[in-house]
Amino acid sequence: MSDFWTCKPSAKALRTVNPIRAIVDKVVGGPVVERTDGKERIPLSLGDPTAFGNLPPSQILTEAAAAAAHSNKFNGYVNACGTPSARAAIAKHYSTEHVKFTSDDVVIASGCSGALELALTALLDDGTNLLVPAPGFPLYEVIANSHGAGVKPYRLDPATGWECDLENMESQIDENTRGILINNPSNPCGSVFSEGHLEDIIRLAAKHKLPIVADEVYGGMTFGDVQCVPLSTVSAKLGGIAPIISASGLAKQFLVPGWRVGWLTFYDTPFGAIKDVKKGVMSLAQVVLGASHLVQATVEKVLDPEKEEDIKAMADFKTQLNETLASQSTFTCDYLSSCHGLRVVRSSGAMYVMVEVVPSLFDGSFTDDVTFTKLLLDEENVFALPGSCFGAPNFFRVVYCAPKEKLGEAYGRIKDFCERHKKMD
Ligand SMILES: *Cc1c(COP(=O)(O)O)cnc(C)c1O
Repeated sequence: MSDFWTCKPSAKALRTVNPIRAIVDKVVGGPVVERTDGKERIPLSLGDPTAFGNLPPSQILTEAAAAAAHSNKFNGYVNACGTPSARAAIAKHYSTEHVKFTSDDVVIASGCSGALELALTALLDDGTNLLVPAPGFPLYEVIANSHGAGVKPYRLDPATGWECDLENMESQIDENTRGILINNPSNPCGSVFSEGHLEDIIRLAAKHKLPIVADEVYGGMTFGDVQCVPLSTVSAKLGGIAPIISASGLAKQFLVPGWRVGWLTFYDTPFGAIKDVKKGVMSLAQVVLGASHLVQATVEKVLDPEKEEDIKAMADFKTQLNETLASQSTFTCDYLSSCHGLRVVRSSGAMYVMVEVVPSLFDGSFTDDVTFTKLLLDEENVFALPGSCFGAPNFFRVVYCAPKEKLGEAYGRIKDFCERHKKMD
């Protein structure tokens, strides 16, 4: 008899797998080769705006956190759905002429991921499914699978700037579908839907009596004249025909993903289509007793500042961040579209752009996005995530948060790489 024994993990643990890992291992796995060309690694892969240190959060936010810690007023437990003042600030911030949220429509969670997990847990059972965008953020599938549910991808069309292929979306709905996930602005596409397109999506959801789960974590992050209209506002303008459960948080718009505070807002139809789902989320929130009290204390300072100077400072912060990202986006799209064999679908929001590789224009050293990104990493030490991670083979995703000099260096190397592997005829 052996003294060694192992414990069996649960079926839920075993089916909770992030699909990115296996794909990324194909790119970065294998023996580490000592570089002799002096090219340091430039990661264009990290969906973390703090990665390079060039995008610091607002001082209002960091000072609010410090003051909250020193006050000793935020050390205790709070309501599992969030502190009254943070919920009130979120309700006020997202209310518009057309939609009035109250604190009771808000549930605070551990990051936007935690908020999505709450919403999807309240909607999905074993054997049900959720419609998700392709290309799209892999977390939705991870959460759905952990509940024994599945996802049915609907196609986003690069030819229309990544709008939903509505016919394809409708064809994916079956009797087990429990909701449609919409991510706007999009990770990984950097696209922003027009109000007209959102209307069409909402009409489709209403026709099939399905709620929309809106991942709007990049909500305020749009460039130039492009505006991201919240799905709740669009539904309200149509008479409230479809319920919207929207998820967002501090992570991206306020540049503190490590602080782990996000939230859900519930916009219901006049006939209360999701009132029981909302109750379900509130019950589920009791399991982990909510998000960090300390960080929740900062939410009202950035979403609903009191002092005139703070209102202005937060508005300036947002304008500056969007201008920086807009300029880096333009630089990225211009540079990469000038590279042999690459096609760019321009980005108008968030911090991403998807670039298409046309393998037939190259010398055969790579055959798809995974082998392209691997060879690019080996030869140029530039790392971008293959589109396969997001359900978009033959694309790769670029995060353009890094300082412009770094981006320029990376794109220069990508350009050289594309020239070197050009097909000769
Ligand atoms: C980053 C991201 C999230 C997660 O946000 P957290 O608040 O850090 O959990 C959710 N959805 C999308 C599309 C994201 O890119």
